[in-house]
Amino acid sequence: MPGTTKPRTVRFTDLTLRDAHQCLLATRMRTEDMLPVCEKLDRAGFWSLEVWGGATFDTCLRFLREDPWERLRRLKAALPKTPLQMLLRGQNLVGYRHYADDTVSRFVERAAENGIQIFRIFDALNDLRNLKTTIKATIKAGGRVEGAFCYTTSPVHSVDGFVDLARRLEDMGCDTICVKDMAGLLTPQAAYDLVRKLKKAIRLPVHLHSHDTAGMAVATHLKAVEAGVDIIDTAASSMAGGTSHPPTETMAAILSAAGVETGLDLSLLTEVAEHFRKVRKTYKAFETDYAGIDPNVILYQVPGGMTSNLAIQLKEQNALHRMPEVLAEVPRVREDFGFPPLVTPSSQIVGTQATLNVLTGERYKVLTSETKNYLRGLYGRPPAPINPDVQKKAVSDEERVDVRPADLIPPEWEKAAADLGGRGGIAEDVLSYILFPKVALDFFDAREKGIPPEPLSAAAPEAASPGPIMAPSEFNIHVHGETYHVKVGGAGHPVGGRRPYFLYVDDHLEEVLVESLVEIVPSFAGRIDDSVGGVSRRPRAMEEGDVTTAMPGTVVSVKVKPGDTVKRGDTVLIVEAMKMENEIHTPIDGEVKAVHVREGESVNPDEVLVVVR
Ligand code: MN
Repeated sequence: MPGTTKPRTVRFTDLTLRDAHQCLLATRMRTEDMLPVCEKLDRAGFWSLEVWGGATFDTCLRFLREDPWERLRRLKAALPKTPLQMLLRGQNLVGYRHYADDTVSRFVERAAENGIQIFRIFDALNDLRNLKTTIKATIKAGGRVEGAFCYTTSPVHSVDGFVDLARRLEDMGCDTICVKDMAGLLTPQAAYDLVRKLKKAIRLPVHLHSHDTAGMAVATHLKAVEAGVDIIDTAASSMAGGTSHPPTETMAAILSAAGVETGLDLSLLTEVAEHFRKVRKTYKAFETDYAGIDPNVILYQVPGGMTSNLAIQLKEQNALHRMPEVLAEVPRVREDFGFPPLVTPSSQIVGTQATLNVLTGERYKVLTSETKNYLRGLYGRPPAPINPDVQKKAVSDEERVDVRPADLIPPEWEKAAADLGGRGGIAEDVLSYILFPKVALDFFDAREKGIPPEPLSAAAPEAASPGPIMAPSEFNIHVHGETYHVKVGGAGHPVGGRRPYFLYVDDHLEEVLVESLVEIVPSFAGRIDDSVGGVSRRPRAMEEGDVTTAMPGTVVSVKVKPGDTVKRGDTVLIVEAMKMENEIHTPIDGEVKAVHVREGESVNPDEVLVVVR
C-alpha cells in the first residue's frame, strides 16, 4: 500500500472442507475425499482451515455414516501445522435447539481435545447472551475465540449497531472478530464502511466471511482489504462461486498484484483446486439448480442453502410453482418476527412458516413448534420487537420468557449418558446422542453392523410392473452391482396421472413418480398396515374431523388415544418435516374415535391420521 514501508499482510482461511461443500454439495463430502489433499492444504500457508461444525456434524451421522469426531481426529492428524477452525452456533452448538450449559461446555471441551483450535461462535439472533457459555468454555479449553456477528440488512440494522456488537464481543474475551455475511448480502461499499469503522472501534483483528451468492464476493473482499480487514475466507476455485465463496487463487492473485502479502503458495493452491475439481464430479447428484449466482438474494435476503431447502419442501408438496409466493412471504414473516438475520436455525423457522402461510392460504393458521418457541422467546431476543398480533395469536403472556433461554434448560448430560447405557461409552457418543438422538442411535447401529453410507448417485427408478398386492414395505434392491436399502415412506396425490411415492433409499428421501397402467383394487383398502416402516395405506381424508398433515413427514409424538375428548385447536400429533416439528391440531371438538399412526411412521397430506367425531 502506498506510503507504508512494511508491506501490508492479509491472511486467508480456507473453507473448502466445510462451508463450500455445505453450500454446493449439500454437505456431502466424505472424509476419504478430503484426506488425499490435506498435506498440500497444510503447507499452502492458510491462517486457518475451517473443517468442522455447521451442518457437517449432522450429515456425517445422518447420511455419510461417519463419526464426526473420528473425521475431526483424522483431519487433525493429516493437518498438523495449520490451526483447525469450526463453526459453532453458540448455545445451539451444531444442532437446531438450545442445549443445556453442561452439554455446551462438554462439547467445546471435546472439540478442542479432538483438534479444533479456533472456535468461530455466533448466534442467529445476535443475542450475545447465547454466546456466553461457549466463549467461556473455549477459553477454559485453551482454544481461540472468534466472536462472530451475523450481518444482515433491515430497517433496524446499521453499521453503528454492528460496531457495538463487535465492541461487546471484544469485552467478552474474543481473540478475533468475524463479520459473518452468511447470505452474501454485503456489497463492496457496505463492506468498506463496516470494516473501516470496526478497525477504528476495536483493537482485535477483523475477519470477513461472505458468500458469492449475488456475484459480489471478489469485489466485496477487495474493498474490505482496502478498508483494513486482516483475514478473509475463500475456497479452492473448483469449489468457489455462487452460493459458495470467492476463489482462493483469484483473491491471492489480485492481492499479490496490489502488493499485499498473503503468505500463500500459488502453485500448491492450483494442485488443491485440481483435486477438488475431480472430487466434485462424483457428487453430481447433490448439485442443485440453486447454487449459482442469484442477485435476487439482495431482494429476498434468502441465503442460498435456504432457497434449496424451500425448493425441497415445495417439491414434496407438488407446489414448486409457488416458490415466488413463498419468496415474497419470507420478508413479511421476517418482519413479523423482529427482523432476525436468516441463518440456521432462524432461516428454517422463517422459511417453513412462510411456506405454511402460503400453502394453507392463511397467515399463521398452522404454526410449527419451532415458530411457537421462537415467539415465546426460547431462541433469545430478536433484533426488533415481534409483531404483537402474531405473538398473541401463538402464545399467551404467561408462556413468554425474556431470560437467556439456556437458563431454563436443566442439565442434560447425566440423563443422556444413562439413557444411552452401554451403547456409547465415550463422551463423544453421548454428545452425538444429545444433539441428534434418533439419528445418533441409527448411526451407532450402522457403525456396529458396518452398513455403508448412502450411494453417491440416486437409484434409477425401474419401470413399474403389476406386482402382487402385498408389496414389501422395506427391502434391499440389487441393481447394477449396487445394493440399496429401500423403505417405502408413503404416497401422495396423483398429478397428471402420476402418483408420487416417497421412498427412503438408504435413508435419503427420494420422490418417484409412478404412472400406473394396471391397477388392482386392494381388498384391504382403508386398513392400517402393521408392518415395519409404516407403509401408507391409510384412508383418504373426507370429513371435517379427519385430521391430516399439511406436510409429508414423520410422526414424532402422538398426543391422544381413542376415547379422549378434544377441543378444536388441540394438538393431537407432532409431525417432523424438514427438521421442523409441526403441531397437528384437531379442526373440530369431539371424541377421538381412531388413531391411525404410531411414533416414527411416515405420513402424507390427505391421509387420515386421527379420526374425531
Ligand atoms: Mn457461511
